[in-house]
Amino acid sequence: MPLHVVIVGAGPAGMAAAIEARRRGSKVTLLDEMARSGGQIFRQSAIDSELRVGLPSELKRKADLLSGFNAISDQIDYRANHTAYALFEGPELHVSDDNCSEVLKPDVVIIATGVCERAVPFPGWTLPGVVNVGGAQTLLKSQGVKIGERVVIAGSGALPIAVAAQLSKAGVHVVAVAMLYPMRSLLVHPYALWAGRRVVLEGFSYLNVLRQHDILMLSRYVPLRADGSDHVESVQIAQHDGTGRPVPGTEKRVGCDILALNYGFTVNSELAAMAGVDMTYRPEQGGWIPITDQFCRTSCSGVLVAGDSGGLRGAWVAQAEGRIAGAVASRYYDERAVSNLSQEMSQSFKERSRHQSFQKAMQQFLQLPTGVWGWADEETVVCRCECVTQKQIQTAIDNGHTSLNAIKRNTRAGMGWCGGRMCMQNVAAQVSVGKPSEDLQPMTPRPVARPISLQAIRNQTIP
Ligand SMILES: Cc1cc2nc3c(=O)[nH]c(=O)nc-3n(C[C@H](O)[C@H](O)[C@H](O)COP(=O)(O)OP(=O)(O)OC[C@H]3O[C@@H](n4cnc5c(N)ncnc54)[C@H](O)[C@@H]3O)c2cc1C
Repeated sequence: MPLHVVIVGAGPAGMAAAIEARRRGSKVTLLDEMARSGGQIFRQSAIDSELRVGLPSELKRKADLLSGFNAISDQIDYRANHTAYALFEGPELHVSDDNCSEVLKPDVVIIATGVCERAVPFPGWTLPGVVNVGGAQTLLKSQGVKIGERVVIAGSGALPIAVAAQLSKAGVHVVAVAMLYPMRSLLVHPYALWAGRRVVLEGFSYLNVLRQHDILMLSRYVPLRADGSDHVESVQIAQHDGTGRPVPGTEKRVGCDILALNYGFTVNSELAAMAGVDMTYRPEQGGWIPITDQFCRTSCSGVLVAGDSGGLRGAWVAQAEGRIAGAVASRYYDERAVSNLSQEMSQSFKERSRHQSFQKAMQQFLQLPTGVWGWADEETVVCRCECVTQKQIQTAIDNGHTSLNAIKRNTRAGMGWCGGRMCMQNVAAQVSVGKPSEDLQPMTPRPVARPISLQAIRNQTIP
């Protein structure tokens, strides 16, 4: 009997998993809360005249994967605009569209839900006009909308540079890019650079675009505050001392109508945590990540994790790992067949490990130095859904509430719509200043993992 494999997330990992699982004869259901497949990097435009702001190499990879996916999409149960909002042992997956919800009881679930962005709180970061860089990119890629006239970008890692280049290509005036670390620090990892040479070349192409547009690149700069009456009008930035603390006397004020930030990512791991999967804390990879073996299997029977939702490692790893997860899911209950896959799919295993070694080097940029936790003042909101300030969280910590669940109960931080995806890592950082953070347990995830309508819960189908 072919196994029923349900995949959550139609990004590179989920699409590759669907293609492979279908090729091996499985019955496949693929669902994504977005209207179109593609995930973050291969996001498809909702308008006919797509703005082609990506690099030619990236657009070719996108076209290849989407054409492979389109070739099988009528052989699988592909559900766009469907959200997975709970996962329990079994596996038992609860999904919903705007009007109805359904409980699925497949043989195997593959979680391929990717990551979301992380911003570090500082005064003014909640002003309208302060956005995540991925938000600016999403508007551009999916709607062809230029987010503003004069954009300042601040952050670390590769995404701020890619988005600065994409916005410039689209005609947006990028005033300055303020990076936490200089990109040349990567040069101390020559082997990793060689392993990830295709990504490195794409990075150089983006830097070249920034040079052509004469964009001010500032290394070791951090935002101090964003100002404006009802919308951001300027940002004050300063050099930092290597630990994230601003150096007095180096402040600059830069006028802008958009400030776009990215200080790393948070793994969308709430479904895995809800199912009881063993997790580990790796802030540089996106917070609490599910522990998996080489075959993407977790500690929970019938639950696999692939791509960035197993820790940020980029689109190349996501696609290779999606193929592995799709094959493993199709043979999940046949241990010998699964073991043979490491031989049979040696190309995908090699590709994953080559890109993983590059991604490990990249993760140094996402390791935030302790000084960044001093950017917020007492009145700065840390949990945006519930409007909880830094002072309220500090008071709870000073009163002895040092577990994340205790802080959640006492302050409501992490209790809102996002379920802690936006604030939990920042609250964890505040709790663990000066202490090891590895032992911190995440806030207990509760259904519903994503907001859904009451009507959808009322109209529920249970098999
Ligand atoms: C905002 C953003 C922008 C990025 N831009 C770039 C870039 O320009 N270049 C680059 O190289 N890398 C970029 N990355 C990183 C890159 O997107 C990833 O490495 C790659 O896409 C990972 O693929 P994936 O399939 O694991 O996850 P993703 O591509 O993130 O796909 C995950 C999918 O899961 C869906 N999903 C999540 N939760 C649920 C749920 N509960 N129910 C239903 N569906 C769900 C999402 O809608 C999404 O389509 C970006 C990451 C982010 C967060």
